[in-house]
Amino acid sequence: MACFERRKSREIRIGNQIIGGNAPISIQSMTNTDTYDLDATYAQVKALEEAGCNIVRITVPKADAAPIFTFLKEKGIKIPLVADIHFSHEAALAAVKYGADKIRINPGNIGSKDRVKAVVDACSAAGVPIRIGVNSGSLEKSILERYGAPTAEALAESALYHIGLLEELNFYDIAVSVKASDVPTMIAANRIIAERTPYPIHLGVTEAGARTSAVVKSSIGIGTLLAEGIGDTVRVSLTDDPLKEIEAAREILKALKLTEGGMEIVGCPTCGRTKINLISLLSDFEKRIKEEGLDRLNIKVALMGCVVNGPGEAREADIGIAGGIGEGLIFKKGVPQRKVPEDRLIDELIKEIKEMKL
Ligand code: SF4
Repeated sequence: MACFERRKSREIRIGNQIIGGNAPISIQSMTNTDTYDLDATYAQVKALEEAGCNIVRITVPKADAAPIFTFLKEKGIKIPLVADIHFSHEAALAAVKYGADKIRINPGNIGSKDRVKAVVDACSAAGVPIRIGVNSGSLEKSILERYGAPTAEALAESALYHIGLLEELNFYDIAVSVKASDVPTMIAANRIIAERTPYPIHLGVTEAGARTSAVVKSSIGIGTLLAEGIGDTVRVSLTDDPLKEIEAAREILKALKLTEGGMEIVGCPTCGRTKINLISLLSDFEKRIKEEGLDRLNIKVALMGCVVNGPGEAREADIGIAGGIGEGLIFKKGVPQRKVPEDRLIDELIKEIKEMKL
């Protein structure tokens, strides 16, 4: 496991998950279905749960959308469910009533103190924590005017303001997120929050976009903070299928050795020595291990382009292949085992991995 010293944050319970303290860093995502479409939302939450998502958030635009939580729980969803609320204290109260395990709401946005108190009282009675979620795109006008831009200090001030409203009512069951699409701003804002509050921190780069640039931005933003010991739960936001968010989040945690389990795949970059179609073999391998549920195995697999350097370079891998001409070599811990024709290479590798599993 990682050797980073982790910031000591307060523990909060969200359904059957703990975030903060020494709890493992959890992976979150959010549905992008219409909340009123119960079956579509169920299908997506179920797929996220199966993919290893630990906590899923669902938007509750109005109070009449809140029964989704009861519906999902009755259908057997086990992972904690978070209600995403903007402006409507009625929607927040309904979400708590219908079984949301956490609500994400900024109390300064829901109007009078009575409304804030009603939400806090309902959450206290039900043991439901609140996440304050500040984004660069939705900063309060007064703060924005004072700072002139959504700077790290401005984001932190906004979060501290909303936290203060809850603390005034003696509510401390809080998680915090300060997100920005600008990575240095997101990093700096979270450092301020980590220093000035005891609460668990939810990390994310907002509006990261799609594909490579989004994954890179999230990896740098989230990864930098995790490597400093900051962050208790993560969400990679992608303009894509939420299942890809789980995949990316898991890779970030794996790269930092913040999670145990899960196959680590290493591949050589290929070069003039490569006489095998390693790029397509690697993508075929990744697809197959997911289909066969082998990606959760705690082993390291290497796909290398040549027998000259491959087995040696990947000596620390539990198993691997090294390409030849029209064939490949299967090796274990750097030691050659047998040669296999190229078109059977992935099948045979998978077969060997399954035997290792047994
Ligand atoms: Fe090139 Fe072989 Fe190294 Fe791959 S393992 S980069 S093919 S020398």
